[in-house]
Amino acid sequence: MKFHVLTLFPDMVMQGLMTSITGRAVQQKKIDIDAVNIRDYTQDKHGRVDDYPYGGGAGMLMQAQPVYDACQSVMEKIPQNKKKRVIYVTPQGIPFTQAKARELAAQDELLLLCGHYEGIDERVLEEVVTDYISIGDYVLTGGELAAMVIVDAVARLVPGVLGNEQSALTESFHGELLEHPQYSRPDVWHGKKVPEVLLSGNQKHIDAWKKEQSILRTKERRPDLYARYVRLQECRQLLMK
Ligand code: SAM
Repeated sequence: MKFHVLTLFPDMVMQGLMTSITGRAVQQKKIDIDAVNIRDYTQDKHGRVDDYPYGGGAGMLMQAQPVYDACQSVMEKIPQNKKKRVIYVTPQGIPFTQAKARELAAQDELLLLCGHYEGIDERVLEEVVTDYISIGDYVLTGGELAAMVIVDAVARLVPGVLGNEQSALTESFHGELLEHPQYSRPDVWHGKKVPEVLLSGNQKHIDAWKKEQSILRTKERRPDLYARYVRLQECRQLLMK
């Protein structure tokens, strides 16, 4: 799978993503990440990519021309038969979720367009964007961190990127619940003991404990998810009758 991040700050994106698991996945050719500098595509002789918004208002707006040309240069290199999406990261998009990450992981190539300043001229967005995605109800200075969040969450779903494929299957949001608490050595730390059942070696009991803890944690920390889980359980029970 290939990610193309279109940005005015390619170094920020590459420095962030070329470390740890995503960096290793690129080296092992499980994924590819390419940061495209939108400024390289401006036709302005002074290298400008932004201008004042029509109608007034605070701040500057990224202009249509360099964004469009940067996008086209990437699209031209992608074979017709490849599944692709062009995502504009924006606080005005739909909220990013694990379900969305799974949907995007089924694509061959993702273009992630990062805005800066007050955003991007609407006309170019209308022409190139397929998905508008927000990483939360707050406003960042630029789209780079949002694009990095999406690349990271999608990349770890690509087969071979995580060392242990099983780990994605037991994590929060894979199903309807948050993951259970976890412990590592030593078995006593600051006077706190690891729950006895985890040391018991009885896998059936361990699995039952993990499920119970998942339910409790979801109820405590995400009552909205817990309420949905309870409703789904009730529906399942009705269907079983
Ligand atoms: N004027 C825009 C508005 O009110 O909707 C906000 C522009 S913001 C200062 C600059 C850029 O940061 C946006 O174009 C977008 O790419 C990115 N951005 C900011 N907040 C974001 C969020 N919550 N999710 C995704 N991208 C975001």
